[in-house]
Amino acid sequence: MDTNTNVSWAELGLSKEMLELIEKEGYKHPSPVQHLTIPLALAGKDVLVSSQTGSGKTASFVIPSVERFKEKNGTYILALSPTREIAQQTGEVFAKFAKPFGMKVAVCIGGANMNEEKEALAASPHILVATPGRLCDHLERGNVWLDFIQCLIFDEADRMLEMGFAKQIDLITEQIPKERQTLMLSATFAPAVEKLARKAMNHPEQVVIQKTAETAPKIEQELFWIPEERKLSQLMRILRQEKGTCFVFVSTKEKTFQIARLLINKGITDVTYIHSDLQQEHRELAVSEFKSGKFRIIIATDVMGRGIDVDDVAHVINYDVPKEAADYIHRIGRTGRRGQTGHASTFAIPGKDDKSIEAISKLRGVKAPPKDRPAPPREARPRHHDQRSARPQTPKVVAPPTQAPKQEVIQETIKPGLMAKVKGFFKSLMG
Ligand code: ADP
Ligand code: MG
Repeated sequence: MDTNTNVSWAELGLSKEMLELIEKEGYKHPSPVQHLTIPLALAGKDVLVSSQTGSGKTASFVIPSVERFKEKNGTYILALSPTREIAQQTGEVFAKFAKPFGMKVAVCIGGANMNEEKEALAASPHILVATPGRLCDHLERGNVWLDFIQCLIFDEADRMLEMGFAKQIDLITEQIPKERQTLMLSATFAPAVEKLARKAMNHPEQVVIQKTAETAPKIEQELFWIPEERKLSQLMRILRQEKGTCFVFVSTKEKTFQIARLLINKGITDVTYIHSDLQQEHRELAVSEFKSGKFRIIIATDVMGRGIDVDDVAHVINYDVPKEAADYIHRIGRTGRRGQTGHASTFAIPGKDDKSIEAISKLRGVKAPPKDRPAPPREARPRHHDQRSARPQTPKVVAPPTQAPKQEVIQETIKPGLMAKVKGFFKSLMG
């Protein structure tokens, strides 16, 4: 966590009790997004915040909203989250900062027990955290009214809209009084986010945290142009070389468990997976077993991966190139945190993923020169069976060929020189 050492929590206008809770939490200094957002939110203003994943956006809305309403009785705070996992984590952060003031938190998420949630809602919680879909279910059934809400929070707004929640968000927003505070937080300012902000917010103050060289995580990024049928063996090679925790992103739910099963069959057994069709308890178990270190490797889709707050992942592997370029940044944001150097490996299919890779590079304003484009698959003949050839730049982490089973020999699909160039253009992405 990058924090601004020039600013102290005491300068932000918070109560003594809140400052004690923050100290107890171990947050030494506010992060830049917290330093700028908290005073505005405390003053009751609408605030539109854009700041990268992992920059501390949650506390930047939790702390001021609790501070504003801690002496009042009634459901005044509603935070909307894109996924169950993010909603739960947000609920936990609210609990830390609000329970000591006697405030109750209710979390409403898909997959959980509807009746239990109904009871929690009936008990007039002070704070409601919900996914838009689930909250609409409760509204339809008359389990909850939103007339009291005075602070509406859209967390991870870009992701909520990408997930197709625009309609539900409109339905919810219509039921909340117009005289309210609205806080919107997003990793990116996509056009859809701006549109929602125009509709739902009242002359918002804007907080935009640009990444600086110091705040940018150090991530060594590598791009492997390989066909689909080579991905599994490349993955196994990385997993065997990498001793730390690995986050593997795939494009479909089916692939999460298919690849987990294939890995287990091949003897890599410290692996778990998560996707949105799993029952809530199984999803929670997978995340907690990954966090506790029982499993070193987790395989996930974007939706699930985004919500898992694990900040010491050693290696992010993009088994499939993300559909949206912005997801690339979210995915690799799982690594390189806490000032450690992280690793990200991306598997791209020559001829299929060229556009996506170009979009990823454009997102950061970096253009790939045409000569850095991959050779089409037919020209890219397997050259030899040297295990090291696919990672020419990092010989020290290459497993000796004897460690890999014979059938796992990797055939290189691009020229080593080309790999070096492609790696170079990726290097500047996070800068
Ligand atoms: P974002 O929503 O921007 O992706 P989070 O709110 O999830 O980021 O915060 C990322 C991590 O940083 C969390 O584990 C959180 O506990 C930690 N964190 C937040 N604020 C601070 C702080 N001021 N000092 C230290 N750690 C912090
Ligand atoms: Mg967040």
